[in-house]
Amino acid sequence: MVAGVNQQREISDLFARTIEKQQLGHAYVFEGAAGTGKKMMALWVASSLFCEQRQAGGFPCGECANCVRINTHQHPDVVEVAPDGNSIKVDQVRELKAEFSKSGVESNRKVFIIEDAEKMTAGAANSLLKFLEEPEGDVTAFLLTTAKNRLLPTILSRCQEVHFSPFPKDQRRKELEEKGVSSSKAALLVHLTQDMEKAVEWSEDEWFQSAVDTILRFRALLDRKDPQAFVFIQTDLMPVFKERPQQELALELLLTCYRDLLNYHYNRKEDLAFPQRQAELEAASNSFSGRQIVHTLTVLLESRKMLDSYVAAQGVFEQIVLKLMDTK
Ligand SMILES: [Zn+2]
Repeated sequence: MVAGVNQQREISDLFARTIEKQQLGHAYVFEGAAGTGKKMMALWVASSLFCEQRQAGGFPCGECANCVRINTHQHPDVVEVAPDGNSIKVDQVRELKAEFSKSGVESNRKVFIIEDAEKMTAGAANSLLKFLEEPEGDVTAFLLTTAKNRLLPTILSRCQEVHFSPFPKDQRRKELEEKGVSSSKAALLVHLTQDMEKAVEWSEDEWFQSAVDTILRFRALLDRKDPQAFVFIQTDLMPVFKERPQQELALELLLTCYRDLLNYHYNRKEDLAFPQRQAELEAASNSFSGRQIVHTLTVLLESRKMLDSYVAAQGVFEQIVLKLMDTK
């Protein structure tokens, strides 16, 4: 079975049973963080529906012509829609509906999968809504989203919701190592993202490595309460972290450093993001009290809120330095 589906075994079992009993609904919202296997699951359910040699228990064979075409995104009755630029536009939904008003190209069944469904424009959402109210024929829609609260309530109320939990860190770390990522990088990456594709991408990215190095140098200055930290923001930090998503990562890396310190301090060494830096953690752990580490984390979490509300990054980092310098 496909890795992502295997990790969401409860969900695939549920759908397999539903399909066997021929009780599949018309519309589902798959909700969960990036990288939790939502798309894979939608394709898997489609495979199960179209499989020419479906196995006992409702599982697709994964090998017949239909299974192969679905998994390579080439099945005419399984239609996938993704944002065109930043949004899913009304024309895209109209095309989809036109597609569905024809009977299935090869059967009477159709499946459509809308990625990033929260990015539907109001027009697109309303157009979809009409369709969900009066489904024509044997149609099942999967709306995939990382931000369920941004879907129209009227759409949500017509869909059955399925929540996708993140995979456990251990499991993700092993998977990354199997993909050739070094164990130290894998340990860090699973703390930063649940999205395996992104993790692999970062592991091969030189920028990412320099980002980590820069943050570790910044942290060393902060730990020593070295006023140089203030200058470092302008000379070293900002040139590396230019864009907003990069600046968010900078803060996330910093948070990860101090979470590690807190874990180390309280002897929870099995979940470290930087397991290879135990000597430094040991030293830092001796010079900080648990209360001080918690205070640092609080400052960083407050800064994350500022960054989320679009305060300029340089100002956010400068405030971190000022607040931490001030700590007794
Ligand atoms: Zn098959």
